[in-house]
Amino acid sequence: MNFKKFFDAVGWIFFPKRCKYCGCVIEPDRALCSNCSNNLPEISDPVCGFCGHSKADCICKSRKSYYSSVFAPFYYENMIKTAVGRMKFRENPALCRDFAEDMYKVFLQKYADIDFDLICYVPFSPDKIKSRAFNQAELLAKHLSEKTGIKLSDSLCCLYNIKSQHRIDGADRKGNVFGAYGVVNGEEVKDKTVLLVDDIKTTGATLDECAKMLRLYGAEKVYAITFAVAKAQKNITIDS
Ligand SMILES: [Zn+2]
Ligand SMILES: [Zn+2]
Repeated sequence: MNFKKFFDAVGWIFFPKRCKYCGCVIEPDRALCSNCSNNLPEISDPVCGFCGHSKADCICKSRKSYYSSVFAPFYYENMIKTAVGRMKFRENPALCRDFAEDMYKVFLQKYADIDFDLICYVPFSPDKIKSRAFNQAELLAKHLSEKTGIKLSDSLCCLYNIKSQHRIDGADRKGNVFGAYGVVNGEEVKDKTVLLVDDIKTTGATLDECAKMLRLYGAEKVYAITFAVAKAQKNITIDS
């Protein structure tokens, strides 16, 4: 064993390499654990741009939204739920860079031909700003901005405290976020083509409300991208 291999092995004992999605310990020369390698809930083409589901899972009937389309690399299930929990609640900002890589691949597939002016992100409400170390949507947007060269904008703001969307039934989510978002700098978004970033799309109500405000302030078009999309139940009508 040469010195490098020896020090790598010692380092692995104290700082073991972890699978970026589920967090289990993996061998140093692997990128993912075997379960994640084989079973990631990838959203496979062809994809419905209205709801972000694979067309085989789409039940949105192409309902119109204020954003033109939404795409994501994964469904929000299994190890991707674990991954989001590790990023968000265990406050691991380094994971945002890894997950932005997955979003960047989708960006290249779906949005490479669009001439974006700005990247905006779904902002935290005032109480979340106080209680959380970082806004994962903002960090994902920042890394995407670095990779794409598109300017990062913090024009969107959240005007008052709102209940977390995941605590609310689908039908009430639109009402929960109605009027909650504002635009700080209207001139910055006027006539611009905007990429809107969030970590998870559930019903799409939050993305739609943010896109609505950007459009009200004159943004020409808004396209959305998230790390994960919650798969709609086939017997529930998706709300935007
Ligand atoms: Zn894994
Ligand atoms: Zn659809």
